[in-house]
Amino acid sequence: MKKGENCDFLVVGCGMAGTIIARELAERSDKKVLILEMRDHIGGNAHDFMSENGIFVHRYGPHIFHTDSQRVFDYLSRFTQWRNYSHEVVGDIHGKLLPIPFNLNSLHLAFEPYKATRIEQKLIDIYGYGSKVAILDLRRQPDVELAEIADFIYDNIFSYYTRKQWGLAPDEIDSLVTARVPVFISNDNRYFQDTYQGIPAKGYTSLFEHMLNHPNIELHLNSDARRRLRLESGEVFFDGCPFNGTVIYTGPTDELFDLRYGRLPYRTLDFVFETHSTTWYQSKGTVNFPVDREYTRITEFKHLTGQALNGRTAIVKEYPRAYTGADSETPYYPIQNPENLTLYKRYQKLTEGFSRLYLLGRLAEYKYYNMDTIVQKALELADTLIKS
Ligand code: FAD
Ligand code: UDP
Repeated sequence: MKKGENCDFLVVGCGMAGTIIARELAERSDKKVLILEMRDHIGGNAHDFMSENGIFVHRYGPHIFHTDSQRVFDYLSRFTQWRNYSHEVVGDIHGKLLPIPFNLNSLHLAFEPYKATRIEQKLIDIYGYGSKVAILDLRRQPDVELAEIADFIYDNIFSYYTRKQWGLAPDEIDSLVTARVPVFISNDNRYFQDTYQGIPAKGYTSLFEHMLNHPNIELHLNSDARRRLRLESGEVFFDGCPFNGTVIYTGPTDELFDLRYGRLPYRTLDFVFETHSTTWYQSKGTVNFPVDREYTRITEFKHLTGQALNGRTAIVKEYPRAYTGADSETPYYPIQNPENLTLYKRYQKLTEGFSRLYLLGRLAEYKYYNMDTIVQKALELADTLIKS
């Protein structure tokens, strides 16, 4: 493909969003799709690989697939088999490990039996067994004893962790963020309760390779769209020539317009990988550190991947900080607050001048999406584009 004139669809980014839209368009429209990816690998933040120590790791932190959508699960299952895996997380509270989300088992570990049983009954009476309550809602409980428990959970699970992760207190960020990890009135220790959950049997990168394996898809790695794509007065230029096809953009939307109104704020992470000469480093896939340490959590990959290996294991520690836009940094988490969403909308408005430009994915839509939502959004956009 030269200078884009032979491709009908130009996809920027080869993460979950870019890969799925590319595959769908290639297959269902039988037209040519070109993907530009600035990194030297596919899969975006879900990329995984065999490290030089022979341990399979997730390069950008732990990725556990979970969804309630049959369509999403069936779609990915065309390209992978699954390792059944239910993620469990414990919080290290001054050396004591409590299940997270904080649940009835956590309650009994944190409080003496008589008190725990009494509070458990109150929680079940008010909310019902199996219900999930956002911590900020539980804190509004008038009952004195429940208010005390809410304060305990807020102080020991949410307060410091959230300050590390976001640089803000839990009540200073969008309430949907902490609601992702509710107080769970249940004895179920799993982190997610979705119908389908697991890890691609041969890893995410293998899943992406299968999706990209189509004669209508061409992929350019190490190819930054900022150097090849220009948007000007309603026209798209690719490699200097007018481009009349459709562009699906999955990178940061502010960068598409040279940060004209300033940078959209994100949080980034420093990942510190360690290999240890022991078969297991910790009892669960992830241990959170909500009361101390500079990192938020430690994940041990073998729990997730099921890799059988004696005497050796690999972990990753996550250190959050502000994203500055430096080339070495990745914008992992959009910081959703009214001011930032207003800024995002200004950028989004600029795209309206380009009738065949579509924004898709966690970066381009500035949303805190899990992978399954990305799959669903990509399939929906493909439905729209194929019809039009
Ligand atoms: P990305 O994966 O970010 O892909 C975008 C791609 O576009 C990147 O490869 C980038 O290099 C490329 N790109 C950007 N700009 C340009 C440009 N100018 N030119 C060319 N290419 C460009 N979700 C879950 O469901 N379960 C989990 O357990 C989970 N854990 C997570 C843990 C962490 C630490 C993080 C950060 C996220 C996690 N997620 C999880 C969310 C998941 O990573 C995202 O939902 C998903 O990867 C988003 O896919 P995407 O394609 O929209 O974005
Ligand atoms: N959170 C917390 N303590 C925990 C786990 C989560 O305070 O032990 C809060 C924190 O604000 C975090 C949010 O809940 O950013 C969402 O957590 P989740 O595990 O969903 O985050 P992700 O896996 O996306 O980093």
